[in-house]
Amino acid sequence: MRKTNFSIEFFPPQTPEGMEKLRATRAQLARLQPEFFSVTYGAGCSTQERTFETVFEIQREGLEAAPHLSCVGSSRSQIRDILNRYREAGIGRIVALRGDLPSGVVDPGELRYANELVEFIRAETGDHFHIEVAAYPEYHPQARSPQDDLRAFKRKVDAGADSAITQYFYNTDAYLHFRDECDALGIVIPVVPGIMPIVSFSKLARFSDACGAEIPRWMRRKFEGFGDDTASIKAFGLDVVTDLCESLIAEGAPGLHFYCMNQAGPVSTIVQRLGL
Ligand code: FAD
Repeated sequence: MRKTNFSIEFFPPQTPEGMEKLRATRAQLARLQPEFFSVTYGAGCSTQERTFETVFEIQREGLEAAPHLSCVGSSRSQIRDILNRYREAGIGRIVALRGDLPSGVVDPGELRYANELVEFIRAETGDHFHIEVAAYPEYHPQARSPQDDLRAFKRKVDAGADSAITQYFYNTDAYLHFRDECDALGIVIPVVPGIMPIVSFSKLARFSDACGAEIPRWMRRKFEGFGDDTASIKAFGLDVVTDLCESLIAEGAPGLHFYCMNQAGPVSTIVQRLGL
């Protein structure tokens, strides 16, 4: 049977203690041999240096690091400097995003949407980087319509994206429908499902409302029924997410990308259960 590749995403910790904890998490997850580790990047916020630090640490450990890079709030020359820094360091993969401005920041920057960032990266660095972009099987919350969002996704592909990672979802049908829509538009790049393990239901519910990911009613009701019973929440969370991954692999998903939230446990268990 074909082996399914997977990758794992971290966010840059805010404190030296967090950085130390992430080193331990990374050591544990590195044993699973993911294809790469990606590191998120905050538009216009103070964690940017931590993104660079984390990316270069991963690289020094001999693992592939894929920095996320968002364009909102930045000038072309700032983005050019970052691209040069990564290129000189031998980074070969970038996750290119528009990003979201932190509240209170009003300057949108010089590139308005992710397709413009992809175009800029290609113009500045040719084929040096493998470019990943974001995809939204349940559609981006700001999209004017699903059709509009799909056209925006196609613009990113036409601008030179090599592959895509989706926002997390728990409805397999949404992903399969999105994939069919991509096929119909002649989009042939791999669209890798983003997988969010579930450890705390209340946090997940808040986050999902903001990013437009639906928690199906049957799952929501079951989680709510567990109340404060964190052991049952974790156990059920592992079961549903493992089942989701199994269905996606059976449907031929080109890989899996885990949003690990800087925790090794849930992703390790899921990857081991899947036998990847
Ligand atoms: P775009 O593809 O530019 O789309 C944004 C919205 O604009 C969509 O609604 C789209 O339909 C619409 N749109 C696009 N083009 C046009 C146009 N020409 N006219 C009108 N509307 C248009 N955020 C971070 O800040 N840091 C991260 O590290 C990060 N990593 C992420 C990783 C993944 C895999 C995913 C799925 C998301 C990530 N995000 C991150 C969140 C992301 O930045 C937000 O979802 C953001 O709001 C959109 O970014 P995008 O690249 O998808 O934008």
